[in-house]
Amino acid sequence: MSRKTIILPKGRRARIGSPWIFSNEIRMDEAAKAIAPGSIVNVRGEDGREFGTGYFNPKSLIAVRLLADACDTAIDRDFFSARIGRALALRGAFYDKPFYRLVHAEGDGLPGLVIDRFDDVVTVQIGTAGMEKQLDVIVAALEARLKPKTIILRNDAPSRTLEGLESYVRAAKGEGARIALEENGCRYLADLAQGQKTGWYYDQRDNRAFIAGVAKGKSVLDAYSYTGGFGLLAAKAGAKEVVCLDSSAPALALAEESARANGVKLQAVKADVFEELERLKAAGETFDIVIADPPPFVKSKKDLEPGAKAYRKLARLAADVTAEGGILLVASCSHNIPPERFAAECAAGLTRTGRTATLIRSAGAGPDHPVHPLLPESAYLKALVYALD
Ligand code: SAH
Repeated sequence: MSRKTIILPKGRRARIGSPWIFSNEIRMDEAAKAIAPGSIVNVRGEDGREFGTGYFNPKSLIAVRLLADACDTAIDRDFFSARIGRALALRGAFYDKPFYRLVHAEGDGLPGLVIDRFDDVVTVQIGTAGMEKQLDVIVAALEARLKPKTIILRNDAPSRTLEGLESYVRAAKGEGARIALEENGCRYLADLAQGQKTGWYYDQRDNRAFIAGVAKGKSVLDAYSYTGGFGLLAAKAGAKEVVCLDSSAPALALAEESARANGVKLQAVKADVFEELERLKAAGETFDIVIADPPPFVKSKKDLEPGAKAYRKLARLAADVTAEGGILLVASCSHNIPPERFAAECAAGLTRTGRTATLIRSAGAGPDHPVHPLLPESAYLKALVYALD
């Protein structure tokens, strides 16, 4: 079957070089509408200019995601193997252990595909109809490059429904999803099949190390701790007291188990963060270091205002339980709140406390989460660290 071509009328392309082409930028005629979602297509200007090879979904606002600059590029095992090879080389330059996000979608030239590596176990997350069609060659390419013992397909992100995809979690190879991983010299346990997202958040690696760097002898509250990413490393770095606070009992159980494996102590508290912060404030309890790394408060654009308010409130309540001379980290993993708005909300919340705060670090994810330069919004993680008087 020959490859179909999507035509871009002259002057309609908003961001030349961007891997995304929106539905209003293409000629959406009957022929285009008839192309099956996820099909590989060539993209050309009406003057014949090549925009490249991509995959198409007539039902999606992002109609085409480009995979290669040239038309008629073969999208096969060798294509994926080459892209994975490039991604591996970048990680190899930064990490001496095989634990990292191996493929970060557009940032690695593979829109709609996220792969996390835990040594010989990998998790694959597919977000688009176009990538779902390539699943078999992706698995074959992983096999060719890494020969993983286990490949887990974590295809249960709610956003898949927008692409008309079903939700499922299964192993494409091997079994056993309970693993140990190493990050910043700390050993963590993770459950890759049942845990949230792909089971582990590599994106906070550098921020965890930053906090650990000031944790010695300090009391630490790790709010929204999940399996203890921040808290455990702080405990290893010599914190005198670490409280991990989360609403998920299985996540806290893993944090406690990881603490035992590292020979350190932490206290796990299962509670709602807002309620617990209010309670701690009323009891006059404070911590030298407070981390607040919540789930996304702005899930979609329409949630911006209530979500922004929630970040403001979180910054205020977290500052209220931060001791004099303490350190506060507030993070957001919402794609849908721009960094400057997030910073403004945190600042507003801190101002309400009457405390003097200075921003000492503004960071995102590490180099295993590369961002396409024309898609700054895909740099979803924002972590602001304040020193409070
Ligand atoms: N800081 C973690 C990642 C946090 S993910 C790390 O470094 O790995 C967000 C966490 O918030 C999840 O573990 C989820 O269980 C928890 N959570 C969501 N809503 C919550 C609430 N209202 N109160 C407490 N925890 C909550």
